[in-house]
Amino acid sequence: MASAQDQIGLIMQLRRRGIRDTKVLRAIERVPRDLFVDESFAEHAYQDIALPIECGQTISQPYVVALMTEKLELDDRHKVLEIGTGSGYQAAVLSHLCRRVYTVERWRELQKAAERRFASLGITNVTTVIGDGWLGWPPQAPFDRIIVTAAAPEAPQALIDQLKVGGRMIIPLGSSRDAQQLVQIDKTEEGLVETPLLPVRFVPLVHGRVKRD
Ligand code: SAH
Repeated sequence: MASAQDQIGLIMQLRRRGIRDTKVLRAIERVPRDLFVDESFAEHAYQDIALPIECGQTISQPYVVALMTEKLELDDRHKVLEIGTGSGYQAAVLSHLCRRVYTVERWRELQKAAERRFASLGITNVTTVIGDGWLGWPPQAPFDRIIVTAAAPEAPQALIDQLKVGGRMIIPLGSSRDAQQLVQIDKTEEGLVETPLLPVRFVPLVHGRVKRD
């Protein structure tokens, strides 16, 4: 189990790296990252590093989670779509800053584990969905914000269509693992405005079938 000291150490690292939004830092402080990784990695959960999770996927580095969250500029009326639930950690952080999170994952095993974590933490404003993230989640569109936590060669058109005018998407773009940029896409009356943020390394947003076993 995490000690308060571990959490404070992580928050200090994030501050040093330039995360200043106190609401974001407080949200991160409220989520025990050790519960989102396998026990064998729990001792590393409060280091600023990505870690492996089930199904060959990864939980992002806390700095990247913090930066993506900060750039979303959330408020408590926002409805947010996340693509790539993974461990559920990013969604748990978002849940403290917006009205509702819909999070889509292609692996049933990951979705179920994330759901159990939300329940155990008393998080009730995250809805998990099994599906193909390339298609977004039409039943709940449009969204104020969209966050994609797997890399795509370009922003999926369905996600652009499901973003409100005035809304923002944060997505890692790039076809090779070594050449990805985190990009902010603002959907304005005049069209899309793209702002590159940071070189990153995410697992790919894969095409195709949902994994049910
Ligand atoms: N946000 C996660 C980290 C995600 S890792 C966390 O906080 O732990 C990226 C996730 O995207 C993986 O779980 C992977 O299975 C999922 N993914 C990849 N392609 C997908 C697709 N097309 N649809 C839905 N999920 C996808």
